[in-house]
Amino acid sequence: MLSTMQDVPLLISRILTHGSTIHGSSQVTTWTGEPEPHRRTYAEIGARAAQLAHALGDDLGVARDDRIATLMWNNAEHVEAYFAIPSMGAVLHTLNLRLPPEQLIWIVHHAADRVVIANGSLLPLLAPLLPHLKTLEHVIVSGPGDRAPLTEAAATAGVRVHEYEELLAGKPTAYDWPELDERQAAAMCYTSGTTGDPKGVVYSHRSVYLHSMQVNMAESMGLTDRDTSLVVVPQFHVNAWGLPHATFMTGVNLLMPDRFLQPAPLAEMIERERPTHAAAVPTIWQGLLGELTANPREVSSLTQVTIGGSACPPALMEAFDRLGMRVCHAWGMTETSPLGTVARPPAHAVGTDEEFGYRITQGRFPTGVEARLTGPGGERLPWDGRSAGELEVRGPWIAAAYYNGPDGEPQRPEDKFTEDGWLKTGDVGTISPDGFLTLTDRAKDVIKSGGEWISSVELENALMAHPAVAEAAVVAVPDEKWGERPLATVVLREGADAGFETLRTFLQDEAKIAKWQLPERWTILPAVPKTSVGKFDKKVLRRQYAAGELEITEI
Ligand code: ADP
Repeated sequence: MLSTMQDVPLLISRILTHGSTIHGSSQVTTWTGEPEPHRRTYAEIGARAAQLAHALGDDLGVARDDRIATLMWNNAEHVEAYFAIPSMGAVLHTLNLRLPPEQLIWIVHHAADRVVIANGSLLPLLAPLLPHLKTLEHVIVSGPGDRAPLTEAAATAGVRVHEYEELLAGKPTAYDWPELDERQAAAMCYTSGTTGDPKGVVYSHRSVYLHSMQVNMAESMGLTDRDTSLVVVPQFHVNAWGLPHATFMTGVNLLMPDRFLQPAPLAEMIERERPTHAAAVPTIWQGLLGELTANPREVSSLTQVTIGGSACPPALMEAFDRLGMRVCHAWGMTETSPLGTVARPPAHAVGTDEEFGYRITQGRFPTGVEARLTGPGGERLPWDGRSAGELEVRGPWIAAAYYNGPDGEPQRPEDKFTEDGWLKTGDVGTISPDGFLTLTDRAKDVIKSGGEWISSVELENALMAHPAVAEAAVVAVPDEKWGERPLATVVLREGADAGFETLRTFLQDEAKIAKWQLPERWTILPAVPKTSVGKFDKKVLRRQYAAGELEITEI
């Protein structure tokens, strides 16, 4: 028997219409580096999204399913693109502006982007690529920045250049958004390729809608129109963790840092604009912590901080707790939209000694994300908090495939999807009986020493708890006797001094790391190499070690 309920498709245009009317006075504030930031209401964003859709359709001939790329910072215009492009039936493709040029070219070509909307400040990056972007017909430029580098390159490449504001001017401020199939492509994002070639994930209207509702749950970020969220996580990194869509459902004010992502302007933004929430990867928070320690500011408004993208070191969480900013740890991937788990401690643990232990896990699975652990032999492992295996997930906002292979069909590589359609995350960990995930490593980063596994993350967290250590990354290096052994790469805090012997003793005595897991190879680095989304780039470290470029001390 079928239900008697209405079957209204879950479309991004509905989120836009809701946000720009019911929450029309909520604001998107964009940092400009000038004395005053730029402010735009949700109502204005709605009107301008309609204008952008008219411009794309009428002036540029954008049709259903066309891929429209953005090469932009987090700002109001990027939010407009987020809503206009999918709502009109085209596909938003956010480009990661930190990728090396050859990867960007590869990705634009693979997605067959017809149009790119670019921030003026990024034209020096875009212009040299134009001759290689064969599918590209139009560039729309928005915001400050010299246009000169683009003009000549565009003429040679046969690409037409438009000014964003000129395109929008005079266009109708309402749009009759089409009634699309909710399973249609809305947006695409390529994985940042930390462990291999970038792969395209294509989100549907339905997956974005359901994921946004999850982001809004009290168990997740739980924000309301009384909040202002500082969205440091880039809009090109898994839809800024779903925040722009989720906030339009609830009227949360957005504070967008544009290109001002350094610790000092972030600290100034927090003091002046008084956000209540912020989201970013741990490296951003490490930087901000250093800045706030050196130059204290009035940042008491910021009480909730979402950290994800890589493991949050416990020492970082404790440091933010001391500042009155409560860290909420979350796990996810490009393939999971990204919210997969959120670490809100269960009621019985709140206020007890157990609470921190829960908060430092990757978190609990929400309704909508089913999880299972698979052992090395393919066996299903119990949720006992001890048995470690590869995490597999499924759900309505989890990828079932990657964007097209050479045959033009979606790809389901065996190492990423199981035969019964679950996503293999490549993350290794345990799940407690009450559903909390603890990741010990990425499958590719785990150190296999004499048949036993050593968690690189555990060693890193332990090292970063030492007061002299600013950052630490641990990678597996080949070892004649054991197969692999850990190499500890350490960045010391400014002015701090600690010998390797001291750090090793600290690992053993304070962090209670088993003796056989202690690294014997050590090196000091000026900074840990980072990926395009700010994670430790272990591929680079392994390569540098293999090439003999690191000065190793053995103890
Ligand atoms: P890439 O795979 O290119 O790094 P993603 O942003 O999709 O791009 O990264 C997802 C991966 O990041 C996860 O599979 C996991 O390894 C890691 N990750 C994300 N959040 C966390 C977290 N809270 N703790 C540990 N690892 C995390």
